[in-house]
Amino acid sequence: MIIVLKPGTSKEAADEILERISEKGCRPLYMPGTERVVLGAIGDERVLKALHLESYPQVESVTPILSPYKLVSRELHPHDTLVSIGGKVLVGGQRFVIIAGPCAVESREQLTRTAEVARKEGVLCLRGGAFKPRSSPYAFQGLGVQGLEILSEVGQALGMATVTEVVDVADVEVVSRYVDALQVGARNMQNFRMLLEIGRGQKPVILKRGMAASVQDLLLAAEYIVSEGNPNVILCERGIKTFETVTRNTLDLSAVPYIKQHSHLPILVDPSHGTGVRELISPMTRAAAACGADGVMVEVHIDPVAALSDGQQSLFPEQFCSLMKDLRPIVEAVGKTL
Ligand code: PEP
Ligand code: MN
Repeated sequence: MIIVLKPGTSKEAADEILERISEKGCRPLYMPGTERVVLGAIGDERVLKALHLESYPQVESVTPILSPYKLVSRELHPHDTLVSIGGKVLVGGQRFVIIAGPCAVESREQLTRTAEVARKEGVLCLRGGAFKPRSSPYAFQGLGVQGLEILSEVGQALGMATVTEVVDVADVEVVSRYVDALQVGARNMQNFRMLLEIGRGQKPVILKRGMAASVQDLLLAAEYIVSEGNPNVILCERGIKTFETVTRNTLDLSAVPYIKQHSHLPILVDPSHGTGVRELISPMTRAAAACGADGVMVEVHIDPVAALSDGQQSLFPEQFCSLMKDLRPIVEAVGKTL
């Protein structure tokens, strides 16, 4: 930890901090410069944090050397984490994983026909919301447990793993019973009690970046889950709110290589919510593959015009087939397989 003192700080004031550092069992360093005094503290930064050095009046800044997220960081865990979803797809390895399906489970027929389109294209993981976190309380809220039943049955019938969103800590248990992976949506990325509850199980979880969350916030949210004992965390970049209006969100693809460099967790991209524009989904899927993402989560619907949620960004079946065809050369170019 590096502690920069304010100009004009006396030696006595610096000594006071050096003493506090020693008392914590860490090694203090005194580095006087021509204009500023810089202090160092060598040792466990978690212990040093308890000193709250940033609130001392003589301190200008405190910079930790290690990242604030420990368990999800590459510093302590250099190898890539692989997460299996239902034994059907392995996220974080050589395969570029496609998770596809409608925004919401609307009926058995809608889900079956949509899933068949994806399955025919080789997709082994089916998404579909049963509990929908809608911005408006008047919008379709999902079929609830009935939606979970349909998702589970259709997944089994087609040999696909299943993913669905959980929106309430009280639902973690029931949702876990029906699907192979839980999804924590953007609106719940910092629902810390739910993260802790999910962390107490072993169910794989796709943790989506909040729409106003920094990359560090996302990694710290993942740390909540892993710190409770569940290592099966998959991150997902799904766009953030900016002043741009031509897209629903601004898909921050720079987050992908950053996260790859600083964390061992796999990361997916959701170009559907990330852009909100059907025509942008295929190009941004290719971009996701090119910048090192482990896969994508894409909304596709058998009849997007009749969709009860997110129809405007749901791919028509033929668009989904084209996406898969156009994606292959990019995936191969980065040394992966589809
Ligand atoms: C979703 O994937 O269905 C969804 C609601 O996404 P997000 O949480 O990213 O808005
Ligand atoms: Mn959606």
